[in-house]
Amino acid sequence: MSAQNPVFIPGPTNMPEALRLACHIPTMDHRSPAFADILHPCLKGVRDVLKSKDAKIFLYPATGTGGWEVALSNTLSPGDKVLAGRNGMFSDRWIDMCRRHGLDVQVIEVPWGAGMPVDGFEEALRADKDHAIKAVLATHNETATGVTSDIAGVRRAIDAAGHPALFLVDGVSSIGSIDFRFDDWGVDIAVTGSQKGFMLPAGLAILGFSEKALRAAESAALPRTYFDIRDMIKGYANNSFPYTPPVGLMNALKLSCEMLLSEGLENVFARHHRIAEGVRSAVGAWGMELCAKSPDLHSDTVSAIRTPQGFNATDVVTVAARDYGMAFGVGLGDVAGKVFRIGHLGSLTDAMMLSGLGVAEMVMVDLGLPVKLGSGVAAAQETYRHGRDAKRAAA
Ligand SMILES: *Cc1c(COP(=O)(O)O)cnc(C)c1O
Repeated sequence: MSAQNPVFIPGPTNMPEALRLACHIPTMDHRSPAFADILHPCLKGVRDVLKSKDAKIFLYPATGTGGWEVALSNTLSPGDKVLAGRNGMFSDRWIDMCRRHGLDVQVIEVPWGAGMPVDGFEEALRADKDHAIKAVLATHNETATGVTSDIAGVRRAIDAAGHPALFLVDGVSSIGSIDFRFDDWGVDIAVTGSQKGFMLPAGLAILGFSEKALRAAESAALPRTYFDIRDMIKGYANNSFPYTPPVGLMNALKLSCEMLLSEGLENVFARHHRIAEGVRSAVGAWGMELCAKSPDLHSDTVSAIRTPQGFNATDVVTVAARDYGMAFGVGLGDVAGKVFRIGHLGSLTDAMMLSGLGVAEMVMVDLGLPVKLGSGVAAAQETYRHGRDAKRAAA
């Protein structure tokens, strides 16, 4: 693997040099006032990135998976019923975590490549007359299949059923790269991790809690110690943590939020959309299809590309790493061997993406697939030139 090549995996993502350097600060006493100057801008910055006025932000030394555990263990009790959609590997793992916590999960299965079952959620919630369901779990961007779901639609479904369940959203591979609206969508808990849209090393679980989720935390009875938000709230009140925080990582998170907000969230989302459109036009030029079933589901952060029948898609990833020092994502779970994934989230430019498409093409030709060198790159170049023209015209 080359340390110079960008990575095209859907997390961890490429780190801008400024963020990498911001991790490296001298040892700091986290009970000193200097830590408050890192903590509070982080909390405010994340809240702004979530498009929320007053979500309570929690940062834990953990990853996105730990963030799921923060969400579940602070708001639910053993035996509680939750409703979840399963459309890929990450929604599946969240359901598995619920079961291992002794929750009673009602799963709505949809095919891999489909979005969260908005209508199915509404039907299940309407049928739940005595409000046994305590939470609805949705994955905003299913990283295994490259599918972005309609989170506003899920909120409408909950409201249409007049149901009081909490709304918990996995935004690990969307937040900071695809539009996410904590307040507008009535999200009760949003979960992400530092190594995706925030362009940092892994190590922080990042969450937003609504007022309603904070209230649920007062009576939730699942066991929790390290992840108990009540301890974290007490820590914050003293400008600190209940234990030792990863200060360097948080210093970089503060800068990451500044970078996202100064580029402008809408510009960040437009950049991701343009880069993803280029990837999609390349996939079309290769004569291949995405795992996502329809254009409205196309993810702007990751593309899962179906290779021809009888071909092992994982070979693309293996050969790219071995012969060209470049990282792509393998297919996971039900689509293992059937798709390879190009991650295009975080710190990425059109030029970086062209290098990834160029290598993917060489690998596919090396492996005997009927792909013409330059075909996908040329299609992406057209998309990027056009995207630039549109940008210039608007300026
Ligand atoms: C990466 C990812 C996770 C898991 O996050 P970790 O930080 O690896 O624990 C969860 N959900 C989605 C959608 C992801 O993309």
